[in-house]
Amino acid sequence: MRPHCRPKGNRRTPTGSGRSRGTGIYEKEKAGGRWKGPYTGRRLGLPHFPQETPQEAEGVNRRELLRKEGGRGVSFGTESPWVALAYPNTYEVGMANLGFQQVFRLLNEEVGLRTERAFYEGASVFSLESGLPLRAFDVVAFSLPFEGDLTNLIAALHESGIEPLSSRRERPLVVVGGMCAFLNPEPVAPFADLSVVGEAEAVLPEFGRKLKELWNKPKSKLLEGLSDVPGVYVPGVSGEVKRAWANLRIAEPLSPIVPARGAFGRMVLAEVGRGCGRGCRFCAAGFVYRPVRVRPAGELVEALEGYPTPVRRVGLMGAAVSDHPELEAICRELVKRGWELATSSFRADMVTPELVEALVRGKVRTLTLAPEAGTERLRKVIRKGLSEKDLLRAAHVAGAGGIKKLRLYAMIGLPTEEEEDVKALADLVREMAGAFRSEGGTEVGLTVQPFVPKPATPFQWAPMAGERVLKERIRLLERYLRGSGISLGRVAVRRALLQGTLSIGDRRAGMAAYYHVVERLSWREAWRKAGWDPDVLHSEKKKDESLPWDFVRHTTKRSFLWMEWKRAKKCTDD
Ligand code: SF4
Repeated sequence: MRPHCRPKGNRRTPTGSGRSRGTGIYEKEKAGGRWKGPYTGRRLGLPHFPQETPQEAEGVNRRELLRKEGGRGVSFGTESPWVALAYPNTYEVGMANLGFQQVFRLLNEEVGLRTERAFYEGASVFSLESGLPLRAFDVVAFSLPFEGDLTNLIAALHESGIEPLSSRRERPLVVVGGMCAFLNPEPVAPFADLSVVGEAEAVLPEFGRKLKELWNKPKSKLLEGLSDVPGVYVPGVSGEVKRAWANLRIAEPLSPIVPARGAFGRMVLAEVGRGCGRGCRFCAAGFVYRPVRVRPAGELVEALEGYPTPVRRVGLMGAAVSDHPELEAICRELVKRGWELATSSFRADMVTPELVEALVRGKVRTLTLAPEAGTERLRKVIRKGLSEKDLLRAAHVAGAGGIKKLRLYAMIGLPTEEEEDVKALADLVREMAGAFRSEGGTEVGLTVQPFVPKPATPFQWAPMAGERVLKERIRLLERYLRGSGISLGRVAVRRALLQGTLSIGDRRAGMAAYYHVVERLSWREAWRKAGWDPDVLHSEKKKDESLPWDFVRHTTKRSFLWMEWKRAKKCTDD
């Protein structure tokens, strides 16, 4: 084991008295006195759990993963209740999420709770650090950044022998955080005993203190007490909840762990800032991470300088990385100090020859731009604030600067979109590809996502296009792009529709997911049984219509969002 994954000073089993309501595992361990390595049910007189967990049998070797991990690591907390920090997707996806890693460090090092990681790989879940089954933990805390992963969250609980419905469950306590939990906590409310509404650094220290203090109380008293913590939403107990946000000075800039494998390769993740002030009307990240906060270049470079890893690759993270006022200086300095760079998408109007030069010297070969829509009119509707000139210029600059691959992101089914917008998108992408290739660029790829209305944005009132329209427009786009040499990624229309329903739905939408996953009903039967009409997704909402997430108070007022929605329908970005 590398030092970072070895529990420090906590090899003795915690002796918190709250264990008495648990599964019995803890009392037997207490009798044994010491923690003896990976859990087996047989040692504790419980049904046998093999040393090799099902994930390991399928080739996910947790010891191998731990051995290959790098970075500064995390000092494990010693206090109970014990927490499994679970990600409802694979190790690669979870560990590429900086928020997940930040919460892992926070719970262990600042809150002091013994916390282990767990990932859903399609079977019952075991913790990564000691191979304990999920149900052996007192608290299971999920990070849920994508609505589509709610079905995985339910499956992870169910397949791990934990009752998914909170009303039927005494323990473990199930907590849900992440962007979905603070955009709209209602679809997860049937499963979560509580949701963390806001940024972890602002909520978890007080939450952890209260959790330790009240852990021995009956569940109803525990939840009542926790509902007093700012940023905590307890379904059925809490009223209005104000989304909490943190000063970046108290947030660690770097991921504590360099994963053994990552969705974007092995790298240190560095947060350059939070929030975005551009106000694109479809973008949840642009609204719910306000206010905009940027990290000074010096702080970031200094933190990376002392970071212990032989992997000299850093991913620059944030909602609007290219808006960082010192981005070019950060890139230059990091390259000078021997770091390779990786970045998320850039705004086309922020791409300069100097920035591209710094990126290429940092071994960046692919640049991602997001025109989002094909016509100036539609880009005004979504308030993207990019002209065709900006986009073509960025493609030229990228090709001339030595970028080899251009990746473009766009949406279909946007409010007010017509077929001619789809044709214009194909034309724009062809022109950008031409500009890029004329300067030496080689590969161009287009990724298209159906527009999904998101809570807390001006488009929360917008209808989502139906399956037939979306599929027709994709076919149209494929036809227009034929022979262009531009690769078009597969578009998962049904998955996007499910995401839309779980994005704007209420508890019934969550229950439908439960019936689908646990009772194996088809989606059609599940919607009917839950009493939810999935077609509401396709109709525009009215001004005063009550929305499931109305009780979450964000920094942007509803009246402003409504004004923006009206402007969008008038096709203006003023
Ligand atoms: S799409 Fe990008 S630029 Fe627009 S608000 Fe979101 S993060 Fe900001």
